[in-house]
Amino acid sequence: RPVALRRALISVSDKTGLIDFARKLSARGVDILSTGGSAKALREAGVTVTDVADVTGFPEMMDGRVKTLHPVVHGGLLALRDNQEHQAAAQAHQIEMIDLLVVNLYPFEETVAKGAGYDDCIENIDIGGPAMIRAAAKNHAFVTTIVDVQDYDALLAELDANDDHTTLEFRQRQAQIAYARTAAYDAAVSGWMAGAIGQQTPRRRAFAGTLAQSLRYGENPHQSAAFYTTDDARPGVATATQWQGKELSYNNINDTDAAFELVAEFDPSQGPACAIIKHANPCGVARGDSAIAAYKRAFDCDSTSAFGGIVALNQPLDGATAEEIVKIFTEVVIAPDADEDAKRIFAAKKNLRLLTTGGLPDPMAGGLTFRQVAGGFLVQGRDNGHVGRDDLKIVTERQPSAAELDDLLFAWTVAKHVKSNAIVYAKDLATVGIGAGQMSRVDSTRIGRRKSEDMAEVLGLSEPLTNGAAVASDAFFPFADGIEALAQAGARAVIQPGGSMRDEEVIAAANRLGLAMVFTGQRHFRH
Ligand code: 5GP
Repeated sequence: RPVALRRALISVSDKTGLIDFARKLSARGVDILSTGGSAKALREAGVTVTDVADVTGFPEMMDGRVKTLHPVVHGGLLALRDNQEHQAAAQAHQIEMIDLLVVNLYPFEETVAKGAGYDDCIENIDIGGPAMIRAAAKNHAFVTTIVDVQDYDALLAELDANDDHTTLEFRQRQAQIAYARTAAYDAAVSGWMAGAIGQQTPRRRAFAGTLAQSLRYGENPHQSAAFYTTDDARPGVATATQWQGKELSYNNINDTDAAFELVAEFDPSQGPACAIIKHANPCGVARGDSAIAAYKRAFDCDSTSAFGGIVALNQPLDGATAEEIVKIFTEVVIAPDADEDAKRIFAAKKNLRLLTTGGLPDPMAGGLTFRQVAGGFLVQGRDNGHVGRDDLKIVTERQPSAAELDDLLFAWTVAKHVKSNAIVYAKDLATVGIGAGQMSRVDSTRIGRRKSEDMAEVLGLSEPLTNGAAVASDAFFPFADGIEALAQAGARAVIQPGGSMRDEEVIAAANRLGLAMVFTGQRHFRH
């Protein structure tokens, strides 16, 4: 059923493109009703408008809390045009039909994002806007709803193509978008309130995001995909500035996030750190005296896998480090900032994406993470667990040296970001072997060692760097065989949560093999 547009109600907070759009509607003979600020802007531009207040017979009141909440507005949006009773009621109460609703809401999300206070956020909860949007969208059999500035052109194109009418398909599509908008809006309000009142649990919450990017495809080319952002202003891939290179893909976004969240664990005031990520797992992480040193040391953990990787730094990128990075193909580089030299060097590499975030996310901050399962999704608090030296319990006869303790905590921090079962060998604050994502902890142990043996060959070392290394295990060793495999690899110190039924056996094995071992009392599964 094509519908002609005779009367429109325009009430918008974001006035981008408003004048041009309204002029074009006017030119097509559409009468325009509008609220205070929108009407003022239109009138100043010479567009003929009727104030909603003149139609309702009520002034806008209570700081704009009540503007359009009136039967002449809602009746005009909701009345079925082909229902005699509805039309008789409309006539009896002098309600005229509204065929087009153009509303964008009070900028609640933006107000929260800029750190506004409680009362300011409350005042930015739009009431009349969502009420009208939901009414118009419900009556999409007759009414067109536009909730987004970027859909103005689509409506004009629809009118062009259909002799100044809208088709049912178009109205249905806009109604679906309209409900996505009101749902996301209220989810943002509820999410903000949860934080504001200190209700951080994932229970009785609603979740929604805003479409930030339509992706060409998902994890694989036959999967469709999109990137949604929330109002979490955490520095990272969602909020970063991209300086060059083509659009990020689904896998790029996932891996870049993993890289930056990992490197952010390393406080830049303690010196540079670099992480190189492949398939969401680190293939090398290191601290260094300079950014370039950190990069090189991370690279030397597994230079084969680093090809086509994602590089993250915990401090601004400089030219020397950029020069080093471009020696091999790298998909994405993400850092808090980048200097002009670095940008110039990368400019010659068209395929490399450079992202700057302006800062590092707080690894100890709260927040929620999501995982989909058939029929639903799981929500949990972010893994913001952290252990310091004072939390460690030494359980072996041999005490770890100060240097070993540093390496243990370093390896432990990296292991938090490695898929389980995770085994991370480290020496001098650089990973030297990583075993990730295995079904058996012993296998992860062996893989980390083998990688290190391969690298010893590449680097021309007399022995693999796992010899004498410190090792982290993301979860406890259920049996002594894991410890034996570590000792075989030459490891000297181990950090793990402890808590296995066989801890005594495991500790006895460590003592027998001369290892130092510490328990964290905290686990970092990452599945
Ligand atoms: P204007 O700038 O035109 O004065 O206001 C436009 C904004 O007011 C839009 O974002 C619209 O959603 C919102 N709005 C329209 N009617 C009402 C109402 O009755 N109550 C509230 N709180 N907001 C409204």
